[in-house]
Amino acid sequence: GTIIDQLRLSGGKITRKKTVVKAVNNVTLDVHAGETLSVVGESGCGKSTLARTVLGLYRTNKGEIHYRGARIDNLSSAKMLPYRTKMQMVFQDPYASLNPRMTVRQILEEPVRFHNPDLNADEVSDRVAEVMCQVGVDPIWATNYPHEFSGGQRQRISIARALVLDPEFIAADEPIAALDVSIQAQILNLLMDAQEKRGLTYLFISHDLSVVEHISNRVAVMYLGCVCELASAKELFTSPRHPYTQALLSAIPKLGGKAGGHVKLSGDVPTPINLPTGCVFHGRCPHANERCIREIPKQRTLESGTVVACHGVEEGRV
Ligand code: SF4
Ligand code: MG
Repeated sequence: GTIIDQLRLSGGKITRKKTVVKAVNNVTLDVHAGETLSVVGESGCGKSTLARTVLGLYRTNKGEIHYRGARIDNLSSAKMLPYRTKMQMVFQDPYASLNPRMTVRQILEEPVRFHNPDLNADEVSDRVAEVMCQVGVDPIWATNYPHEFSGGQRQRISIARALVLDPEFIAADEPIAALDVSIQAQILNLLMDAQEKRGLTYLFISHDLSVVEHISNRVAVMYLGCVCELASAKELFTSPRHPYTQALLSAIPKLGGKAGGHVKLSGDVPTPINLPTGCVFHGRCPHANERCIREIPKQRTLESGTVVACHGVEEGRV
């Protein structure tokens, strides 16, 4: 089955408290139940914005988001409430995302009480202790404050906060990027372990392609508010089709070798609020022609299953 049956944002603006944070041009995705769908791209491409939009933290003025068959992008806060337990987010920076004035117990109990007013105090604290054990933080530390923990432990607590409501879907926005390299693998393993035990579905936002290759079922590549390619991790890393994906992958240094066939990107990255006409990548693409400047490329599914939005691929010249 699918968790996000339809996520289609086209030619609209994404806003937060009435301020435009990003323009979207061409985003069409679905997220299968139990999979890890990673979203990759350079900073500013809109991948974090996309995750926040899916969770209803940002609004879109064009397009639709459907969660298990129900449209959710236009719901009031009250109607969105049941989805707030099913859909959770883990942020990059556990310093910023945990309230410094609350103990770990308060941080974890608050959402449980809010969404389960029928539970008694023992049931709430049992639930919290259980989830702390699962993320590898001993419940004896529950009366401590976030600043008393290391970065890695703090991210474990953030993950506990996401898990404590027993969600189905977690959007993780660069969840290991702010951590010491030595503990990144531990946090990644914790996330993968929780996914297996709980049958979770992940939307995993990252700029780290080696991590993405390792953990993903499928990968969406974003550039300036567009999904330019969507493919299984295997297809994407062995036969990237979109010129932007090819440029991204060629920049990864290969083990024991040179970064072969490095595609050099020319041109400036345009602003994500005022998108270029046509293909958003045309200013940096070595294959751009007049049609690319004029016409937004549509997503097409190739025989391999890869979905790609590129006139050059469609015309057989890329
Ligand atoms: Fe965009 Fe055209 Fe380059 Fe394809 S060939 S990526 S449509 S500019
Ligand atoms: Mg980001």
